[in-house]
Amino acid sequence: QAKMQGRGILRFFSPELTRRAKERVALNADLRRALGREELRLHYQPQIDLFSGEIVGVEALVRWQHPERGMIAPGEFIPIAEDSGLVVPLGDWVLHEACRQIKAWSDAGLAPRKTAVNVSPVQLSRGQLVQSVKDALEQSGIAPAQLEIEITESFVMLDREQSFKSIAELKTLGVRLSIDDFGTGYSSLGFLQQLEVHTLKIDLSFVHDMATNSGNASIVKAVIALGHSLDLEVVAEGVEDEVQMRLLRSMRCDVMQGYLVSRPLPADDMTRFLTSFEPAAYLRR
Ligand code: C2E
Ligand code: MG
Ligand code: MG
Ligand code: MG
Repeated sequence: QAKMQGRGILRFFSPELTRRAKERVALNADLRRALGREELRLHYQPQIDLFSGEIVGVEALVRWQHPERGMIAPGEFIPIAEDSGLVVPLGDWVLHEACRQIKAWSDAGLAPRKTAVNVSPVQLSRGQLVQSVKDALEQSGIAPAQLEIEITESFVMLDREQSFKSIAELKTLGVRLSIDDFGTGYSSLGFLQQLEVHTLKIDLSFVHDMATNSGNASIVKAVIALGHSLDLEVVAEGVEDEVQMRLLRSMRCDVMQGYLVSRPLPADDMTRFLTSFEPAAYLRR
């Protein structure tokens, strides 16, 4: 094992790292079992049009109900699943479950225009993603444009060529594409144009201290202008208060998502949210 030789040896065997490595191995083994035991759940967070007040979409966010550890957030287990490759079957489950839910909402007349699903750069860099999306669409019977695939700029760090191929094929299927966490990654402007996505999501780190940090406010403004010049829908993530909402409105941002509207909700709660939603509530504010 190359990692155990040479310069890495001291760092590799530090007690803290050994403990963390063991923890990751244990969590990964649990996750492998979790996939077959229905311990994963999708929560959904609404996206609201800043001008009409309507729900334009929801984002599906995976949760893991661990039998002993309780609810685990994706930030804790997705990176582990990416390293082990488990993110591929996990991602397939997410796609199928989200499409099944979209179909149920459609049948009830409640489906928002689009439902967004996050995919890992690891999924994108392997060939099977397109087939998985195709299967999920066919099995659920939803229209491809009801599904939006969120990718992050970091895929350029993996197999860029295969990733570009996957993205092109996804577009052929007719699903929508979104760039998540925009501004934190590596993409050039030319790259953004080349991808021809539909949606740009401004990372919440820029949105959060927008009101107090004029540098971040300038970045948000610039990203909105960039998105609009490329004809993209611009979504601000992590909107937590009305000051941020009004500022985004003054900057002509299209859509907001964040705790101000709602935290991510279990499917049943999201169904109630969709049933009783009143657009006017957000226009008055
Ligand atoms: P993301 O896709 O950028 O999702 C937004 C994250 O911000 C979510 O965290 C959401 O709960 C959180 N958030 C939403 N509104 C607010 C707000 O107003 N304030 C703050 N502070 N946070 C807010 P979550 O659910 O823990 O997900 C974290 C990340 O894990 C996601 O970031 C995404 O990159 C990844 N992830 C989630 N679900 C999946 C999945 O099904 N597959 C893959 N590959 N990754 C996923
Ligand atoms: Mg996302
Ligand atoms: Mg994001
Ligand atoms: Mg994120």
